[in-house]
Amino acid sequence: MGAGGAGLRCALELSQHNYSVAVLSKLFPVRSHTGAAQGGVGAALGNEEPDSPEWHFFDTVKGSDYLGDQDAIEIMCEDAVEAILELEHFGLPFSRTPDGKIAQRPFGGHTKNFGEAPVKRACYAADRTGHMILHTLFEQCVKNEVRFFNEFYVLDLIMDGDICQGVVAYDLATGDIHVFQAKATMLATGGHGRAFSVTSNAHTYTGDGMAICFRRGIPMEDMEFVQFHPTGMRKLGILISEAARGEGGILRNREDIENIGSGKDGFMGAIAPTVKDLAPRDVIARAMYNEIVEGRGIEGSGDTGSDYLYLDLVHLGAEIVNERLPDISHFARTYLAVEPIKEPIPVQPTTHYAMGGIPTDIEGRVLWDAKNKVVPGLYAAGEVACVSVHGANRLGTNSLLDIVVFGRRGGKDMVRYLGEAEFGRIKGEPDEFLRGEIDRLQNGGGTEKVVDLRPEMQNVMMVNSGVFRSKDSLTKARDTILELRQRYQKVGVQDKSAYFNTELVEAIELGFLLDSAWMIAESALHRTESRGAHSREDYPERDDEKWLKHTFIHYEADGKVKFAYKPVTITKFQPKPRVY
Ligand SMILES: Cc1cc2nc3c(=O)[nH]c(=O)nc-3n(C[C@H](O)[C@H](O)[C@H](O)COP(=O)(O)OP(=O)(O)OC[C@H]3O[C@@H](n4cnc5c(N)ncnc54)[C@H](O)[C@@H]3O)c2cc1C
Repeated sequence: MGAGGAGLRCALELSQHNYSVAVLSKLFPVRSHTGAAQGGVGAALGNEEPDSPEWHFFDTVKGSDYLGDQDAIEIMCEDAVEAILELEHFGLPFSRTPDGKIAQRPFGGHTKNFGEAPVKRACYAADRTGHMILHTLFEQCVKNEVRFFNEFYVLDLIMDGDICQGVVAYDLATGDIHVFQAKATMLATGGHGRAFSVTSNAHTYTGDGMAICFRRGIPMEDMEFVQFHPTGMRKLGILISEAARGEGGILRNREDIENIGSGKDGFMGAIAPTVKDLAPRDVIARAMYNEIVEGRGIEGSGDTGSDYLYLDLVHLGAEIVNERLPDISHFARTYLAVEPIKEPIPVQPTTHYAMGGIPTDIEGRVLWDAKNKVVPGLYAAGEVACVSVHGANRLGTNSLLDIVVFGRRGGKDMVRYLGEAEFGRIKGEPDEFLRGEIDRLQNGGGTEKVVDLRPEMQNVMMVNSGVFRSKDSLTKARDTILELRQRYQKVGVQDKSAYFNTELVEAIELGFLLDSAWMIAESALHRTESRGAHSREDYPERDDEKWLKHTFIHYEADGKVKFAYKPVTITKFQPKPRVY
């Protein structure tokens, strides 16, 4: 399920072992969100300056605010080098150093020698890195005759007791429902950013895979951790990649306007003296929010919804901006009528990435509980999964890395599993629930509308479950989401047609999003500390004694959840205060 980087990398692995592979995707594969990734993919190749996988390991652990599982992180950073060279050999057109090696640039939180100074670790193809990864993997899959079912919308899993036997999907072009039986199924459906009103995420980021599992009794891990990226375009949320700061871009407040174009430090110079504008995203997003709340936003006042800061690229010069950041400068010109070579770009934090998701082990196998009981036949990788390599805060470039490393690893374990698994008989009517749900939406006479419910959900999540949270704000978010879930039961779809019924699809997606929003708000309310991207105003400190653990949220009944906990795997780096 899913034809982004994680799904394609897994399919490619299986196809190399001559298994019959079907990739189901609600989008045409190369429209997956991986294609929107701009800045780079992390690997300690050391092409531009000395680097080591161990430094990468350390930075990722520290970036995660010590919540990432160190066994998984070590594997990711070690495998990174091979995974990138493999992509190069598949034909990925990376940008190059003058002597022909893969070019690398600095990114937030990536340092040399355990935090000494920023290091050039992000491998990139201009600011179209994800686009190139996606196209390269798609070409390889086509070459290996992977079978694609494009615009097939998966809506349910087929379960026989504990075992996964495949999926049920809705064909968007015809309205037909199909049952896909499989010995092994991988979920690689991406994140849930559309639960928030300001986001960098694609319209299709509706948390489908997480909700489908949650409804089937599979818990979700660490859902409270949602990343807010510092530089979304003002009001639009469209991303200005961290590569812009990797190349030397500087954030500026209203007191700093005269320094535009000078290359002098901005406000981050005082907050993170070593890495400045290349501090991790959680640190910068909070700093920006504080600048605005304290009246140093460009217009001087207002909250994050109504005010903004500047991203200054002027001192970089036309050559760097046009050659290394062509897409984002084009976005600034197109969407904001701003010429980044001459003027700063108005930015504000934007919802960006789901650190939490479907719990898996390091082989990509989905877990039934916090005690590591595996769901036979079910795998997950990429943004939908929580392995957990990102912990409480993901470093830039580590998601494109996660999808290729764990897509590949999951594929390898599926090959092992396929050798021993039985092709069981499907019992009952696996599509019954789905048919009932579609019938309810189309013929149930409901009067509520998606266009009314969706913005309410997105606004309440943005305001109350955003960069800063508290018991009061999260209670408000949770209660509103529960109310919206009740109203969702009365949603009616006017369009009764079978062909490309986008109204029906949006209604189904809203149902999935409401599940994600509910899990995020409940989990955030539950965790009474501040760690990584989860900042509680009422519990401003990290509390290792009580909360150095993963949360697993289980569905109990409508409106009711329960929590379980899993210890963090710590192998090498003991938790320390995070100073940048
Ligand atoms: C604007 C932007 C820039 C980014 N830049 C970077 C970067 O520079 N470096 C970095 O490391 N990370 C970056 N990220 C994060 C990273 O790109 C993503 O986390 C990653 O690409 C996700 O890959 P994936 O394979 O998990 O999911 P996706 O690429 O999103 O693929 C999901 C797939 O699932 C399918 N799907 C979803 N639901 C269903 C369903 N119900 N039925 C059937 N199919 C379904 C979709 O059709 C799609 O094919 C960026 C993210 C964004 C939004």
